[in-house]
Amino acid sequence: MNIKKATFKGGTHLSYNKELTSGLNVETSIPPEEIILPVSMHIGAPAKPIVEVGDKVKMGQKVAEATGFVSVPIHSSVSGEVIAIEPRLHPNGQKVLSIIIKNDMLDTPDENMHPNSDYKNLDSKEILNIIKEAGIVGLGGATFPTHVKLSIPEGKKVEYLILNAAECEAYLTNDDALMMTNSDDIIKGLEIVMYVLGIDKAYIGIEDNKKDAIEKMAKSAQALNVDIYCLATKYPQGSEKHIIKAISGREVPSGKLPIDVGCVVLNVATAKAIKEAVIDGKPLIERIATITGHGIKTPKRMLIRIGTPIEHVLAQCGGFTDAEKFILGGPMMGISHFSSDTPVIKGGSGFLLLNEKEIDLSESNDCIRCGKCVSACPMRLLPLMISNASVNNDFEKAEKYNAMDCIECGACSYVCPAKRMLVSNMRVAKREITAIRKEKAALAEAKAKEAKN
Ligand code: SF4
Ligand code: SF4
Repeated sequence: MNIKKATFKGGTHLSYNKELTSGLNVETSIPPEEIILPVSMHIGAPAKPIVEVGDKVKMGQKVAEATGFVSVPIHSSVSGEVIAIEPRLHPNGQKVLSIIIKNDMLDTPDENMHPNSDYKNLDSKEILNIIKEAGIVGLGGATFPTHVKLSIPEGKKVEYLILNAAECEAYLTNDDALMMTNSDDIIKGLEIVMYVLGIDKAYIGIEDNKKDAIEKMAKSAQALNVDIYCLATKYPQGSEKHIIKAISGREVPSGKLPIDVGCVVLNVATAKAIKEAVIDGKPLIERIATITGHGIKTPKRMLIRIGTPIEHVLAQCGGFTDAEKFILGGPMMGISHFSSDTPVIKGGSGFLLLNEKEIDLSESNDCIRCGKCVSACPMRLLPLMISNASVNNDFEKAEKYNAMDCIECGACSYVCPAKRMLVSNMRVAKREITAIRKEKAALAEAKAKEAKN
């Protein structure tokens, strides 16, 4: 095993505030009386309920099935009774069809998934099916179905399998906690993925502010052919494109995927979930999340059952103190929310309650042309130009400035001394460009049809 150093150009240094939770033990959240399972907790087609109101369910039982290749099933994280199937508020701010289960507090296990102590008795296809059936998605927050990511298209070859342990967002320490407590499971998951992909070498990227985690992971990975990269602590080091650049030196071209440059990136929590599904026969029904910020009484790192109401989790942290802002995820890429009346979903890595001192309430001023946003942009874009085009509704111009390459990391807004709403304007530009492209495609299709007739 080799330990190396690496990073990427651009990016910025944040006020990390990780000390609020780093070093704390992971507490197991008290099971709630009711869980709420939205049928959409992943990228792709929503799952379809296969239970009805009044049905008794077991812990780990599949309650909604995948509705296509890019879709995953949903499992109950408690045993009990289905009491409703109805739209409920989702962390994305929309109402989404959800299965509500009353917990009987017995945790009666479902026995439909089987353990496989020797995964090498299975072939790649069988393992990919187990990963799908366990409902596994990217747990770094992307929630893309993992079986799809690991189904390599014909003609493509994986040369770099990268385990993403960077956790570059401020405040969040859940991946760090996982590496400190479950490094063997993470590495077993990585080993399974190497077997599925038929490769004999992997790479692990960890930011160099996680010395203990680096040691733990190195120890667990001793028997594997793995290079560990100690990455400079810089935001957004954990973005898929930037960890690929830092480790492989390769660039994912605009509009392309990591596999187009021979790379697959997997988050550490996803690797652990793969081990649990394949070896232990356990579907994805819980995850570790960071509950933190100066607006919550007792910041914690907790192992939480999927579907647990966030309010129930916050109550176990002593409730709010003087919280001014509630964010789902990290402060840079998370979503500000108006309500904690939503469930913990698969991609729910953090819940931040920030007080007045932690949030910047200063007003947006005129651009002073300092260029700081340009230096910070890890995608080498011109944030000020795209932002101006977006504000002026000139989306053609925004597209010319490659707005679609923006990864919405927020580094530009973070460094801007004029407090311009750069990332919000990027999002608007991307949304509008996507809509214009769709409209153009529909028009072209209609014209082609007309010409045929
Ligand atoms: S949000 Fe977009 S434009 Fe701003 S720094 Fe990140 S990638 Fe660049
Ligand atoms: S960082 Fe802000 S003030 Fe400086 S050039 Fe960019 S938009 Fe203008």
